[in-house]
Amino acid sequence: MEHDLDCDVLVLGAGPGGYSAAFRAADLGLKVVLVERYPTLGGVCLNVGCIPSKALLHVAAVMDEVSHFESLGITFAAPTIDLTRLKAHKDKVIGRLTGGLAAMAKMRQVTVVQGRGEFVDPNQLNVELTDGQRQSVKFKRAIIAAGSEAVKLPFLPQGDERVVTSTGALELRQAPKRMLIIGGGIIGLEMGTVYSTLGARLDVVEMQDGLMQGADRDLVKVWQKMNAPRFDHILLKTKTVSAEATAEGIKVKFESADGTPAALPEQTYDLVLQAVGRVPNGKKIAADKAGVAVSERGFINVDIQMRTNVPHIFAIGDIVGQPMLAHKAVHEAHVAAEVIAGELLGDAKLSQSAFDARVIPSVAYTDPEIAWVGLTEDDAKARGIKVKKGLFPWSASGRAIANGRDEGFTKLLFDDSEEAHGHGRILGGGIVGTHAGDMIGEITLAIEMGADAVDIGKTIHPHPTLGESIGLAAEAFEGACTDLPPARK
Ligand SMILES: Cc1cc2nc3c(=O)[nH]c(=O)nc-3n(C[C@H](O)[C@H](O)[C@H](O)COP(=O)(O)OP(=O)(O)OC[C@H]3O[C@@H](n4cnc5c(N)ncnc54)[C@H](O)[C@@H]3O)c2cc1C
Repeated sequence: MEHDLDCDVLVLGAGPGGYSAAFRAADLGLKVVLVERYPTLGGVCLNVGCIPSKALLHVAAVMDEVSHFESLGITFAAPTIDLTRLKAHKDKVIGRLTGGLAAMAKMRQVTVVQGRGEFVDPNQLNVELTDGQRQSVKFKRAIIAAGSEAVKLPFLPQGDERVVTSTGALELRQAPKRMLIIGGGIIGLEMGTVYSTLGARLDVVEMQDGLMQGADRDLVKVWQKMNAPRFDHILLKTKTVSAEATAEGIKVKFESADGTPAALPEQTYDLVLQAVGRVPNGKKIAADKAGVAVSERGFINVDIQMRTNVPHIFAIGDIVGQPMLAHKAVHEAHVAAEVIAGELLGDAKLSQSAFDARVIPSVAYTDPEIAWVGLTEDDAKARGIKVKKGLFPWSASGRAIANGRDEGFTKLLFDDSEEAHGHGRILGGGIVGTHAGDMIGEITLAIEMGADAVDIGKTIHPHPTLGESIGLAAEAFEGACTDLPPARK
């Protein structure tokens, strides 16, 4: 056993949740130990998630964009693709960010221990170091930020390079001609976008009755229309029931969700991506030894201060529940670090920190992007909440037309209950179009600030921008938009 470490705060896992918690706690004056099993900091998001996928999606988006330039009088040669160099580019992006985190950990004097951690009791964690040695860390407070892993379907061939999760897909080991995406959610469709631009024909199989569940159907419809040429088959209400590795490829059989034969007979694929969700790592850290309750599915329950059932142990990020998103993890991280600092340093204000965000935005970084936040129309309908919509079609946006990308729209949903007297606050919004993800923050802010249509419409947005469409959607709601035909009386 290596010498023991003592600290104020132990943080288990160095994803966006873990490193943010460690850095915030250190900035507030606490002695912090950060335990991470992998050689680099940044967790799923920086190493095998948000960042590498976006590095590849950016390349795909540029390739797709220039491929349409011929009609504008600009012709490029057909691209040649060097997967090794593309992978090197992606790895360089990751390296720059994870290297930056390592440097910032040093600047803050956060002690990073590389190895797999498991609780021994409510105030001690043992770490199995990479060289086989063990180190024990004693702590006053702990923050569990051990994240999640991709679900692996048990009936898919194991150890075959042609069957991957998102992590394997990001390795770019092959350029498949035919690719099956199992699961029509954001992660599967983002990876599908990359591989399709690199030359793959796509099939997608989804158990539910539509792709990208959670987003309003009108937003998804715009994406689906533009992306139809990428797909040979979109199988909805269908499941994959078996898969066999053969020399020609992975042979896959489907069945309708209701057990009847599927519309598509057995198919053979060069690459099968399983993107059917993620499981939290709650059962892999011996949480029970610390007395921390873990649900059957591996989640850890917390209160709004991110405190588990054990008062001095906190949990954040994917491991505490949906939505499994990096920006949620970071905000939860700051709360946990502040509460702990408040308690240990006797700062009443800090110790009252709580996670009280009204809404958390979601983005699919497909092409076009789909972004939404707060109440959706489908949600409002299902829950009987009366809303009124302000919608601005990008076919009337000068910037979208100039960009040659006017397929999108921006919609805002305002409270239309009787109590709102026709001046309801904004409850939700959605954008489909290029850069939708960069703009959804404004709608998120409007919801947080309790803005109404006048607040948003009277805010001067720069022209010509795509962001202007948010102000114009609010004006359309008010019947005051002069960039659209007159509202019908
Ligand atoms: C392909 C893909 C794309 C994504 N894109 C986006 C996106 O665009 N935007 C977005 O917001 N989110 C995205 N996500 C989700 C995002 O990556 C996660 O929500 C986020 O990483 C969760 O952060 P976390 O800190 O909770 O956990 P993680 O990032 O999972 O980090 C947990 C860390 O804990 C470590 N760990 C676990 N157990 C132990 C142990 N016993 N000992 C030591 N270390 C341990 C792990 O090695 C890991 O580094 C994406 C995910 C994937 C897979």
